[in-house]
Amino acid sequence: MILCREWPTFAALLLVASASLAVTCAAQTDVRDWQAERTRMVNEQLKARDIRNDRVLEAMLSVPRHRFIPESARGGAYGDFPVPIGYGQTISQPYIVAFMTQALDVGPGDRVLEIGTGSGYQAAVLSLLAREVFTIEIIESLADRARATLKDLGHQNVHVRAGNGYLGWPEYAPFDRIIVTAAPEAVPPALVEQLKIGGLMAIPIGVGDQELRILRRTPVGLDTIATLPVRFVPMTGKGS
Ligand code: SAH
Repeated sequence: MILCREWPTFAALLLVASASLAVTCAAQTDVRDWQAERTRMVNEQLKARDIRNDRVLEAMLSVPRHRFIPESARGGAYGDFPVPIGYGQTISQPYIVAFMTQALDVGPGDRVLEIGTGSGYQAAVLSLLAREVFTIEIIESLADRARATLKDLGHQNVHVRAGNGYLGWPEYAPFDRIIVTAAPEAVPPALVEQLKIGGLMAIPIGVGDQELRILRRTPVGLDTIATLPVRFVPMTGKGS
């Protein structure tokens, strides 16, 4: 008789204990301290190298990079490497995003064109530094997803278009800055035409191992300002 009365109590206690254990486990897997990971990324991957521009550092500290990455790959969101975003494409390593953004020296009044929206992360970082960002993505599903993520996060000054960026976006040209995040074999002529005189362009050039070039448009052509060896996905859908 005594046993019969004690067992239910014991069973109830077990139930309560396992339920609270389940709640604790769920909390541990669901809630990661993304802000802490982002702070570490900025300190160890950007400040510890040569990223000195405060506006760039602040932007990268505030944009939630993990939100631009599909859940299956989110664990590596703040790692020192590129991360897959689906459709065979990747979001660039944080340092490369910072290097290109710093090299472009974006001002608050600038209108910026990006070729290769991908996840929309680079566009989000730019949107905090520029007046307006125009970004083109050749894979329609990626363009749709980036547009939705940017809208969710409140980036109202970014315009996403699905299309072939090789031809630029003539309706909104000229641009103060152009950033290309997929690698063509040579600088697309339409992009040079759509860059203001004195404007800057960051673009990886080549097949396989590429050279990231920072170019300035002059009245007579282009000056190369800086380079870095890089590996971006190839630019597809060439202008014909
Ligand atoms: N800037 C992106 C990463 C770019 S990955 C980010 O922050 O996530 C390069 C992207 O360029 C890919 O999504 C690829 O589909 C796109 N791309 C390749 N060729 C293109 C072209 N001709 N026009 C527009 N986008 C292109």
